[in-house]
Amino acid sequence: MPDGVEGDCTLIAKEGKSPRFAIRIDNKLSVDAQFYVLLHEWAHALSWGSESHRIRFHGPEWGLAMSRIWQSLLED
Ligand SMILES: [Zn+2]
Repeated sequence: MPDGVEGDCTLIAKEGKSPRFAIRIDNKLSVDAQFYVLLHEWAHALSWGSESHRIRFHGPEWGLAMSRIWQSLLED
């Protein structure tokens, strides 16, 4: 990972309504930090769907995706 980048999410394939993403996480981070970076990047994948070029990085769609992830984690 480049200096100062803890993780990223990239659209790697677009097959109709089933986009595929690659998430990278800096393995120098603590396990706890890696977990939070994973949730952050996962929210990008969920909010972008197949419209990654139209959705802002940390706009309302990302915030909604993040809240859904936390909700699903806290329900169990
Ligand atoms: Zn982000």
